Amino acid sequence: MAGYLSESDFVMVEEGFSTRDLLEELTLGASQATTGKVAAFFVADLGAVVRKHFCFLEYLPRVRPFYAVKCNSSLGVLKVLAELGLGFSCANKAEMELVQHIGVPASKIICANPCKQIAQIKYAAKHGVRLLSFDNEVELAKVVKSHPSAKMVLCIATQDSHSLSHLSLRFGASLKSCRHLLENAKKSHVEVVGVSFHIGSGCPDPQAYAQSIADARLVFQMGAELGHTMNILDLGGGFPGSEGAKVRFEEIASVINSALDLYFPEGCGVDILAELGRYYVTSAFTVAVSIVAKKEVLLDQPSKEEETSSAPKTIVYHLDEGVYGIFNSVLFDNTCPTPTLQKKPSVDQPLYNSSLWGPAVDGCDRVAEGLWLPQLHVGDWLVFDNMGAYTMDTKSLLRGTQAYRITYAMSRLAWEALRRQLLPADDQDAEDVCKPLSCGWEITDTLCVGPVFTPASIM
Ligand code: PLP
Repeated sequence: MAGYLSESDFVMVEEGFSTRDLLEELTLGASQATTGKVAAFFVADLGAVVRKHFCFLEYLPRVRPFYAVKCNSSLGVLKVLAELGLGFSCANKAEMELVQHIGVPASKIICANPCKQIAQIKYAAKHGVRLLSFDNEVELAKVVKSHPSAKMVLCIATQDSHSLSHLSLRFGASLKSCRHLLENAKKSHVEVVGVSFHIGSGCPDPQAYAQSIADARLVFQMGAELGHTMNILDLGGGFPGSEGAKVRFEEIASVINSALDLYFPEGCGVDILAELGRYYVTSAFTVAVSIVAKKEVLLDQPSKEEETSSAPKTIVYHLDEGVYGIFNSVLFDNTCPTPTLQKKPSVDQPLYNSSLWGPAVDGCDRVAEGLWLPQLHVGDWLVFDNMGAYTMDTKSLLRGTQAYRITYAMSRLAWEALRRQLLPADDQDAEDVCKPLSCGWEITDTLCVGPVFTPASIM
């Protein structure tokens, strides 16, 4: 063990006890003591992160994973990933500071933001972070002045028009402009050591990776012609984080492996990296949010005679978190968060058309609508799965001002696997890699009054 993560950083979950049970305990405690102070409780299953890592190594054995800190910079996540030996992809000074604070060496950090503030470049120079990305001449000029010993990675544009987020609108040099940028770098004595790209999040077409890998090969050739020694290929992010994704991780991995074999065959001397965000954390986090207010609204304006209990109505629930906070995926990824209930409704309980709204007093803070839920009450908790990616704001995490709590948990099996950096022998088969490592979400319906745990590491 490298010592980034210790047993005191998380709740050790014993067999027969799930992270869902943990959430239940936390929210029960909260309803008596802290309602009103804490808007949301996260439970993070660090075992699920460990499992994702082993899956990654299994399917993409030639790729060295880096973690995109912007996706979720909570300490438990950073520590477990550092313990697993990942590198870190940082977009700014705050993120570099954070990972260096937990002891990650500068050699394991890439500052993967092609358009940085000069202060950020200076910070990287001062703190030994040498790998930086760029995609334009202005950035090159800033680096010449503020970080002459930097090793630059040229970020190229991708075909991401079908992705949920189109990063190539803002980032990435076109193939046409690459030669000019490489020439300029050479003239300015800036070392360009590789090529990166990011196909955008939620890309439905794995061939986008193959196309970008082929493009990167061309840029490597240009670089070699101009005398650059290029030996890093960075595949960026965009890998799915939850089961329901349009394209499965395994499918993407198979396309990438074929493209790598074709354009960057084994033994070609190129170090292949990826910067994964949502892949590692989405499914590991579950959140409970409480209802703070409710009202019934008639869907149409009925006449006086129609105003009866059978008139069509919707129940509007107000939550303490909304689309400007942890549910921002509604705005950016077009998702419709669907809660599960802590108390399973009985089959004969009537269901009502319901909508969920956040705390902002505006018409945009709509979390979900068209849900069919039983009659709920103020103080009830709604539970949302797959809440690990882009739900928390780094600045509030850094300042400790966030309005939610995170409790980290891990199964003993996952902890042992992490300590040995190996899957348990029985789990080496790819299909089921690590299922038992996470904290038993499979048994969520059973309310075990399980082994006692000591809640730890709530940040
Ligand atoms: N790398 C870069 C440069 C990014 O901008 C991002 C996210 O925007 C990522 C990696 C992580 O992407 P994802 O969360 O889709 O893996």
